[in-house]
Amino acid sequence: MSDASLPSPEEIQRRLNELLRANFSPPSAATNESTPPEAPTPVSREAVFDFQYLPVEIKRHLDRFVIRQDEAKKVLSIAVCDHYNHAKLVAKREKEGETQPLEYAKQNVILLGPTGVGKTYLVKHVAELIGVPFVKADATKFSETGYVGGDVEDLVRELVDKAEGDTFLAEHGIIYIDEIDKIAGSANAAGRDVSGRGVQTALLKLMEETEVPLRSQNDIQGQIQAMMEMQRRGKVARESVNTRHILFIVSGAFDRLSGIIQKRQKAAQIGFGAEPVRGDSQTSGFRDVTTQDFVEYGMEPEFIGRVPVRVVCDPLSESDLFQILKTSEGSLLRQYERAFRAYAVDVHFRDEALEIIAARAAREKTGARGLLTVCEQLFRDFKFELPGSGVSRMEVDRALIERPREKLDELLRQSEAEKAEILADSAREFAANFSQVHGLEFGFAPETVVAIVQKSQAEGISVIELCQRLFKDYQFGLKLLAKSPDCPRFEIPPRAVEDPEGVLSEWVVSTYRNDPARTSTGVPHS
Ligand code: ADP
Repeated sequence: MSDASLPSPEEIQRRLNELLRANFSPPSAATNESTPPEAPTPVSREAVFDFQYLPVEIKRHLDRFVIRQDEAKKVLSIAVCDHYNHAKLVAKREKEGETQPLEYAKQNVILLGPTGVGKTYLVKHVAELIGVPFVKADATKFSETGYVGGDVEDLVRELVDKAEGDTFLAEHGIIYIDEIDKIAGSANAAGRDVSGRGVQTALLKLMEETEVPLRSQNDIQGQIQAMMEMQRRGKVARESVNTRHILFIVSGAFDRLSGIIQKRQKAAQIGFGAEPVRGDSQTSGFRDVTTQDFVEYGMEPEFIGRVPVRVVCDPLSESDLFQILKTSEGSLLRQYERAFRAYAVDVHFRDEALEIIAARAAREKTGARGLLTVCEQLFRDFKFELPGSGVSRMEVDRALIERPREKLDELLRQSEAEKAEILADSAREFAANFSQVHGLEFGFAPETVVAIVQKSQAEGISVIELCQRLFKDYQFGLKLLAKSPDCPRFEIPPRAVEDPEGVLSEWVVSTYRNDPARTSTGVPHS
């Protein structure tokens, strides 16, 4: 912990932060609650020293991104406010030299709920809003290796990295551990007992209070660096991080838990013979969970005792998934819109399309993650083929979702046609320009325009370049012909695209012979 007697680099950092904040800080949520910052708040000590959020403000922020999970938002907001108000008070007292410890039970949180319903998303947004470092890990990662304690401590060291080396800030970060149910040491899950318990014990130590060395025992290079630093500076720099004020949030699906709760409830009812047992859906039963149920599940009582705040996250229905797409500020659709806009393609999603995507995602049974799976499959070819195709707009409607390949081909064809029309315009422009410059009435027959466009595409040169090459000698010949009393309007036939000289010489010859076949060469009467 920070020691007031040390003129530490941390104190310098703090003063610097104060200076920066006084001059450049964005308005805080408390003073400007209707427009919370768009970008994540940069992690800084002010998150602790100046913590001033109200639970309703945190919930309001979460509402912008997270659909449903109202109870979780509320409970998390309260726990976070309690935690950081306490941390702020402790920091203030330490600064003032007050050493008497305050009684406080840490508000570590356990989130119960299936995968993909927003548990990580909630925690990430809370950490980003208040500006504290945040680290997430899966509990399964720890049980797979032999060196449990070290791996668990790595989480704290990761917090230090996230806090850019500021140990005070790391000491007030949030550690989020998912899949905590996978380290349950249950008799049913043979073989997991030892490692699961081991991980729980290691985590328990962190959750209570421990000093985590800044350098892992495995980090030989780090150890050498520390020794060299010690020799150079003559004193040991801050060596460890205290975990007392780190907020721990753990989560898991706890699949078997509702069965355990129901069994206990049934047993309790025997003899009373009254109401049927509640617990129709998987998570509604979770709301009645007791410590004993968790213990039955295979969690250590001490571990569960360290996460007093219990919250249930609900599964997401099809209509929730629709709302996530439609209204969440973090909607996947915004990501798709940005991705396509990078290639100058404007995408517009119709509600009828979102409904189908939501329905398909619901069938995946992976919560909102299903949306990602469905959209990725659906738009893969679009993402590959639209960039550079000239398509500038895509309307995602029911038809596109149901027949994506057909619709993509249609878009590409339309774009080809639009491109051809632009090229045709430039051919007509060439003709108009030629007429003006040479004082002639010069034009292309419609089929000639098509032939010019095709040739320019086949040769990979611009229409103007091609026309200049094809008709470079026409001005002389046509001027000669134009001298005749009935100055004709020259309409260039498609044959001229392959044989410009041939057509011109035919005209010259036929004019001088005063041959009536002149019209058949493509030169109409004026
Ligand atoms: P988990 O519950 O497994 O931690 P996540 O929070 O990682 O699930 O959800 C995965 C992604 O799905 C999030 O990044 C977010 O984009 C989206 N998502 C999940 N739940 C919600 C929700 N309730 N509201 C809005 N988006 C959500």
